[in-house]
Amino acid sequence: MSEFETRAIHTAQHPDPLTGGVIPPIHMTTTHKQDGVGNLRKGYEYNRAANPTRTALQEALASLEGGRFGLSFSSGLAAEDAIIRAVMKPGDHVILANDMYGGSYRLFARVFKAWGIDFTIVNLNDSSALEASFVSGKTKMVWIETPSNPMMTIFDISAISATAHKHGAVAVVDNTFATPYLQRPLELGADIVLHSTTKYLGGHSDVLGGAVVLNDGELAKQIEFIQFAVGAVSSPFDAWLTHRSLKTLALRMDRHCFNGQAVANYLEARTDVISKVYYPGLESHPGHDLARKQMSGFGGMISMKFSGGKQAALKFCESTELFTLAESLGGVESLVNYPAEMTHASANGSPIEVDDDIVRLSVGVEHVSDIIADIAQALEKI
Ligand SMILES: *Cc1c(COP(=O)(O)O)cnc(C)c1O
Repeated sequence: MSEFETRAIHTAQHPDPLTGGVIPPIHMTTTHKQDGVGNLRKGYEYNRAANPTRTALQEALASLEGGRFGLSFSSGLAAEDAIIRAVMKPGDHVILANDMYGGSYRLFARVFKAWGIDFTIVNLNDSSALEASFVSGKTKMVWIETPSNPMMTIFDISAISATAHKHGAVAVVDNTFATPYLQRPLELGADIVLHSTTKYLGGHSDVLGGAVVLNDGELAKQIEFIQFAVGAVSSPFDAWLTHRSLKTLALRMDRHCFNGQAVANYLEARTDVISKVYYPGLESHPGHDLARKQMSGFGGMISMKFSGGKQAALKFCESTELFTLAESLGGVESLVNYPAEMTHASANGSPIEVDDDIVRLSVGVEHVSDIIADIAQALEKI
């Protein structure tokens, strides 16, 4: 059972021993009968600590990322919170990239800053600027999101992780956009992989979740302790839905990549209305070669800059019919998002503010000709 697609379907999915049900039941229970005080069945005691449905998902997540330990959370941000609290304490310092998900930035800027954790924002690919950002004895973490949200910057996971290690810091990779099917950060030298499973791993815009995968047993224990002590676990039903979705991840990602490339090619040719397309699968993308090296496909996320500025961008967002105007991404259905006032509104006025002429597309798995026809008719309206 060594190949990705096979593990996605079979890891921790054994037929129910009681009934032979091919799909294991959802263990909707908060507590487990003990055979004498402290004599637990398979280690299960109370749902905040562990639940069999969640355990199964965690095994699958770890397997797909090629890591030893997997943890499933109630949201991507809950997973981030647990990582940050396990690795850092007040007085410590973290290095962030100059493009990242607005909610992650908000967590550092508006929550952890007040608890005494400082940050520096830098272009992580600029090795001398990165070197200069480490604060001796204080920098404990480098936060890498690649491809980044929403500007699709590709950051060099191997090089940045090596620099982090030289300074005794932990390299965290938010792998939400790529998924383990296209990119496996642990194999590239990162220490911790993080996901908003709400996006591609869940894949159907119907379940919120987060995941952490890592190899270091000590660190895994610390993150698991925060999860247990604070309680941001995924519910059995959410864990079950996410696990079910993993089974089609490879199929979905192949189609997202195919459709994404076709849409990016189309948009790049529309120089009459669009001045720039941000998609790592385009040869014009500055991170194209790096993406070819560290990813096995370019995914379904695309951003674009409108020559007509904010008005054109807004008009496009209001004119699509197949693309739904909504936050989030990574589902089977195509979504359009206006970062400056939606996903990245919390970054306005900050160093990672997104320009108001940028629109982000999450290209779904509908038929590519319907997707492009919808974009074409919306472009006619601007
Ligand atoms: C959505 C998202 C998150 C946050 O995840 P939630 O599940 O919404 O809490 C983190 N990182 C990236 C890249 C995201 O797109």
